[in-house]
Amino acid sequence: MAECVFCGIASKKIPSRIAAEQDDLVAFHDTNPQAPTHLLIVPKRHVASLNDLSTADAELAGRILLFGVELARSLNLQKAGYRLVLNTGPDAGQTVHHIHLHLLGGRALAWPPG
Ligand code: 5GP
Ligand code: ZN
Repeated sequence: MAECVFCGIASKKIPSRIAAEQDDLVAFHDTNPQAPTHLLIVPKRHVASLNDLSTADAELAGRILLFGVELARSLNLQKAGYRLVLNTGPDAGQTVHHIHLHLLGGRALAWPPG
């Protein structure tokens, strides 16, 4: 299997603009930003998608979400608003098969996204 790009970023073998890090999570800037703030939050452990999570991962799932919230607060986005997105599978347009939470903010975001 080819090396997973987000495993490479999480282990720092592949360069990225890292915004913040926790023990088992990394947040970095998307290379093709869709908003003034566009960060990706990933677990350092490879998990392909939400479909691969079980109740044993409840704490990890919660911490991914809360890391997104913490980053949004630190970027002062809480009042204007922001969006946290987990694309899962082909219909949602998931292109990288390592769980990543998008944090989008800094402009008005259309809904539904298309
Ligand atoms: P998806 O469509 O799977 O939810 O989103 C994947 C995201 O990863 C896209 O927004 C894309 O721009 C971003 N991306 C893909 N490859 C790289 C990369 O090598 N580095 C960074 N920083 N972002 C990437
Ligand atoms: Zn991976």
